[in-house]
Amino acid sequence: MGLIDSHAHLTSKEFTGQVGDVLDRANEAGVERVISIGVDMADSARVLAMTDDDPRIIPVIGIHPHEAGKVRDEDWPIYMEYMTRENVVALGEMGLDYHYDFSDRPSQHGVFEKQLELASQTGKPIVIHSREAHGDTLSILTNAGFVNKPVVFHCFTGTKAEAAAIADHGWRISFTGVVTFKKSTELQDIAAAYPLDQLMVETDSPYLSPMPIRHIRPNEPAHVAHTARFIAELKGMAYEEFVATTAENTRQFFRLT
Ligand SMILES: [Zn+2]
Repeated sequence: MGLIDSHAHLTSKEFTGQVGDVLDRANEAGVERVISIGVDMADSARVLAMTDDDPRIIPVIGIHPHEAGKVRDEDWPIYMEYMTRENVVALGEMGLDYHYDFSDRPSQHGVFEKQLELASQTGKPIVIHSREAHGDTLSILTNAGFVNKPVVFHCFTGTKAEAAAIADHGWRISFTGVVTFKKSTELQDIAAAYPLDQLMVETDSPYLSPMPIRHIRPNEPAHVAHTARFIAELKGMAYEEFVATTAENTRQFFRLT
């Protein structure tokens, strides 16, 4: 059983014309499939078109908090059409980003809440982007009825207390290459202790190349193997066992066949 990169942006301009090669290199590194995430409706359309070309790509569609301020009323019917497609395994990434605040906070809140309302109609899992917005993200998810529902906090970089709260709500964490960085000592402690059956790995490529290839840009799905190996060592586990378990978690979370 091979790895699954649980979060990548294959539609990024860094990969234009190279997605087939990127996926071939992923396969060579033991990565079977890649979940590719849309960040607005135009990008989600590109993700869906790409999936039609290559079954190794699994589509997730959504509106990133950075894009929340640009959402138009006419985007919602498109969202609703995309979200019900059978091959769309989850909705997101969605959430709040108070680090960059690229969209104003009322827009971020409104677009996040609207996506949750629509997501709850489908029962599909959701992928959360939360940066420096832990308290508000938790209260919005809780108020929308998502406690103990399939929710993953992608690219988790928060504190031990935040990780504990996520676990207590029955939600998952997905780790990127950030966990491999030398200064990420708290995150390494979290990864070492986080329940293995609630944990996934991702690249978030083209961003965040892991150690020891942090200097290589763009990051790509093949590199998720470095992050998996690093966390397996933190947990004192055999790499193969870690890969098999996290791949099974990812399959189960996204209900992959
Ligand atoms: Zn992302």
